[in-house]
Amino acid sequence: MKLLVPVKRVIDYNVKPRVKADGTGVDLANVKMSMNPFDEIAVEEAIRLKEKGAATEIVAVSIGPAKAQETLRTALAMGADRAILIQTDAEVEPLAVAKLLQKVVAEENPELVILGKQAIDDDSNQTGQMLAALLGWGQGTFASKVELADGAATVTREVDGGLETVKLNLPAIVTTDLRLNEPRYASLPNIMKAKSKPLATKTPEDYGIDIAPRLQTLKVEEPAKRQAGVKVGTVDELIGKLKTLGVVA
Ligand code: AMP
Repeated sequence: MKLLVPVKRVIDYNVKPRVKADGTGVDLANVKMSMNPFDEIAVEEAIRLKEKGAATEIVAVSIGPAKAQETLRTALAMGADRAILIQTDAEVEPLAVAKLLQKVVAEENPELVILGKQAIDDDSNQTGQMLAALLGWGQGTFASKVELADGAATVTREVDGGLETVKLNLPAIVTTDLRLNEPRYASLPNIMKAKSKPLATKTPEDYGIDIAPRLQTLKVEEPAKRQAGVKVGTVDELIGKLKTLGVVA
């Protein structure tokens, strides 16, 4: 069984994003970039399914600039077998990503696509759901447990009220939540080995997909600064202040 894992190159989660002075977006110049954390979880899950014998091949795919090769090499160093880069310098919105992934699915015929629940740069939380809709496949989003058996995936989902378990006929789409697993670090020997694993480079035009944006960003602003807090001396003083504010009667 083949697994497809889309991985996005995003601003590293430890970096505090800065808004560009002209308000057109986030400044990415000289900023550390890494694999989207939810996609690391997706790669890890694919590797665990392969280690259990439930899958045979893992293909990682990324849509992004030439530097997204580094993200794919990280996936290969963790344990993916081969990679596809769909290279573009344009910003690609979730619908265009989903359309490109639909084409990759048609070419690769995976039985399961494991995506992150969201990319931490745009926080869209859309691509997996859109891909499921385009393919007409079942989807198990926000997964905290995935089991494959008898041509079906049993997925435990993190929902507002607790956990929900769904059974999906394969082929299907899964999106990962934080508690699904703890991704491994790539070891040095595996990083070296990953350099010789196959990485194919394509373009959106190769797939005949129009990636022109449907959204226009009007302005990007920093969130309003929080006002400094005050330290109260006693519990009575605190209650007094809360009463003045109308928080308590
Ligand atoms: P989003 O809908 O943008 O929040 O992204 C959800 C998931 O879709 C990510 O965690 C990735 O698995 C996948 N994805 C989104 N954009 C890309 C991209 N440019 N390349 C590869 N995978 C992507």
